[in-house]
Amino acid sequence: MQILDGKGLSDLIKSQLKEKVTAQVAEGKKRPHLAAILVGNDGGSETYVSSKIRSCEEIGYKSTLIRLENTITEEELLKQIKAINDNDDIDGLIVQLPLPKHINVEKVIESTDPNKDVDGFHPVSVGRMVAGLPGFLPATPNGIMKILEHYKIDTIGKECVVIGRSDIVGTPASILMSRNTNPGNATVTLCHSKTKNLKEHTLRADIIISATGIPNSVTAEMVKEGAVVIDVGTTRVPDASKKSGFRLSGDVDYVNVAPKCSYITPVPGGVGPMTIASLMLNTFQASQGK
Ligand code: NAP
Repeated sequence: MQILDGKGLSDLIKSQLKEKVTAQVAEGKKRPHLAAILVGNDGGSETYVSSKIRSCEEIGYKSTLIRLENTITEEELLKQIKAINDNDDIDGLIVQLPLPKHINVEKVIESTDPNKDVDGFHPVSVGRMVAGLPGFLPATPNGIMKILEHYKIDTIGKECVVIGRSDIVGTPASILMSRNTNPGNATVTLCHSKTKNLKEHTLRADIIISATGIPNSVTAEMVKEGAVVIDVGTTRVPDASKKSGFRLSGDVDYVNVAPKCSYITPVPGGVGPMTIASLMLNTFQASQGK
């Protein structure tokens, strides 16, 4: 069994980006600039946004963090987004999800300039991904593809089961895994909460990608010997032994599943850091040609 070291790969990608940025700045070009909007003070969102800003600093990008109150109206938020869309110095924009319930997420996503959509959530980006055209790929699924590519994991003709069908993880992961590309080119089954007998599907799988957010829901008896297991889940589970009072748990019962796998991602240190690396790659891409 080999651990898929997402943290190490993310560090490698970030150091390669740093070299590219240093070179382009030496040529007199601008630094890539990422803007992040954080609404409210949800603990998880704070953590995610600060690690994105920290990564920008490590690589040498400019970053702008806009903090907004939980009570902000949808109209005011859309105004902030428009100001960023109109700001030529800013290359990429992320609006950290989740947003307060009174704000329409689809409206927010659709109001982002598709040329600055480094999260890859805008319908234009999604459409380009489905059509196999160049564009911004969603950060988490693309991070998974980068892991498979780096570790030269064969996906051609393999059975892949994706568990979870959200717009940001499961559905795009199923699309990227089934395209005529390398990695990709697998036969994909997309499972969700209405799937009957999930185990019947997972036991067939050469590659399992789990993104439900249900800790320990992928158990050893659901995984065949030699499978590749990608665990996207990151759920805060109360843990009195930790200073923070919680620990991060994946979807996979790691202790019992890992011995059966050929490859497995850990939580933390697997898909999470690769999501940030993909976001940094997209931000670099957004800045090119300026
Ligand atoms: P989400 O929007 O809540 O979607 C969860 C999906 O799981 C849904 O499609 C749901 O099915 C499915 N599901 C729920 N119970 C199930 C069951 N018993 N059997 C099979 N499928 C079931 O979640 P998300 O945003 O995709 O996130 C999933 C997890 O990934 C969370 O832990 C999140 O924190 C984590 N995440 C991690 C990263 C990272 O960078 N590591 C990034 C994004 C998300 P229905 O569609 O039928 O409801």
